[in-house]
Amino acid sequence: MTDAPLKLFNSLTRELEPFVPVHPGEARVYSCGPTVYNYPHIGNMRAYVFADVLGRTLTWKGLKLTHVINITDVGHLTDDADAGEDKMEKMAAAQAQSIWDIAEHYKQAYWADVKALNIRQPAQWTVATDYVPQMIEFAKGIADKHCYELDSGLYFDVSTVADYGRLARANTEEGANGLGARIEAVEGKRNAADFAIWRKTPAGESRQMEWDSPWGKGAPGWHLECSVMSGEVLGFPFDIHTGGIDHREIHHPNEIAQNQAHCCTNGLDDPKNSGARIWMHNNFLVERSGKMSKSSGEFLRLQLLIDRGYHPLAYRLMCLQAHYRSELEFSWEGLGAALTRLKRMVMAVEALKVRHAELGSASNDQPAPWEKEGAWTLKQVQGDEDIGQLPPSNMQGVDETISDDLNTAVALVSLDFILATKKASPLARLKATAAIDSILGLNLLSLTRTDLRIRPKAATISEAEIEAALARRKEARTAKDFATSDAIRDELAAQGVEVMDGDPLGWEWKL
Ligand SMILES: [Zn+2]
Repeated sequence: MTDAPLKLFNSLTRELEPFVPVHPGEARVYSCGPTVYNYPHIGNMRAYVFADVLGRTLTWKGLKLTHVINITDVGHLTDDADAGEDKMEKMAAAQAQSIWDIAEHYKQAYWADVKALNIRQPAQWTVATDYVPQMIEFAKGIADKHCYELDSGLYFDVSTVADYGRLARANTEEGANGLGARIEAVEGKRNAADFAIWRKTPAGESRQMEWDSPWGKGAPGWHLECSVMSGEVLGFPFDIHTGGIDHREIHHPNEIAQNQAHCCTNGLDDPKNSGARIWMHNNFLVERSGKMSKSSGEFLRLQLLIDRGYHPLAYRLMCLQAHYRSELEFSWEGLGAALTRLKRMVMAVEALKVRHAELGSASNDQPAPWEKEGAWTLKQVQGDEDIGQLPPSNMQGVDETISDDLNTAVALVSLDFILATKKASPLARLKATAAIDSILGLNLLSLTRTDLRIRPKAATISEAEIEAALARRKEARTAKDFATSDAIRDELAAQGVEVMDGDPLGWEWKL
């Protein structure tokens, strides 16, 4: 079995490119994190599932991964293009709380979703307000050559860097949509696309979050924050910068412009140094009604899914069933289908564990041989004798599809095949499943069917009551008293319990 070369789609070139690490043996990745002014929408969480699969794939390839995700707690305005109010200040005013409390509350909520979706902890979470001195230094370094001051702040002159907006394809029809139309009109700006890297607090006002700077009291711009945190922690140039596709239009082109200015000033590489070699973007989660946003009616956050009885990993599986560059359509039926698929996989793993134990080879296994510290790598799979029982094409197929710009949808099909095949021992298949799950992150080796049964919040009947009613129904059926049996079924239905006779997955009921 050979290693497939890892190819990733680079938004800068709009092409698949082989991944060549900047530092041999390493991969350094920065992901734009959330602005912690509200609960994350599940569409936002798709970005972190994608970045997690990317990180897991780099680990699978044997690279030492350093992943950084930032937490934006200052400076992100209600419009990405520098217009409107600061999102954090607006929410703090609406909830009559301090910005610091708002940031802490929603950061914790975001971390809870990260955990529930089995997204691995990055090497570092960088919080924007911890890096303000470095932001001021960065801005000072580029101010003379690339910026100018207006009453409202320090602005970046986009005409001072080569090829501004190439990531957005700003000079082509593709990029012309939107860019420009959404940019803030500020009197005195030299170019429409110029943006504030430091916002001054208006004279006579004071803000909850403000810092002294050579340009007066104020706060950093959102774009500046990501340039500084990524460069500080990972060093320019680093390997991969990720984010949602909405960042391809303004936020990332502005980061790139700042990075070019910074790298040029500091004698790093050529003037086109974009900071990161590869820029990757995941597509939107959509509803039939159009792009989902926090303002469109029902707010789809992970807790809503859980409240309705869906395990959060069913949503992760739903994300993996689509390619990250495709739009993913959300529907409750689609989520239900993903949950059923997850149940089938978990049942198959449970059955394999039982078979393995029956074969008598499980008794002294402590821990189980498919469990290991850290993730499986391709090298370990290649050297594993048990996995070697599977036809070589099986794991080769997984490596090839995942190396082809993270094709998780096809890797899932390979996994289904390995779970179903009779051609290798249960141990071989359990190990192979664990190895594939190192990339997919569905927790397949430890999830149980019971874990997947989540009580909808609206349900009031207890599990003991359901079991008791089902026992009475069974007695009635044995006595051929179908009237009573049907009546019990109807009573349960009235309380939201569906009785599932002959369910192929072995579920007797569901709420
Ligand atoms: Zn960012």
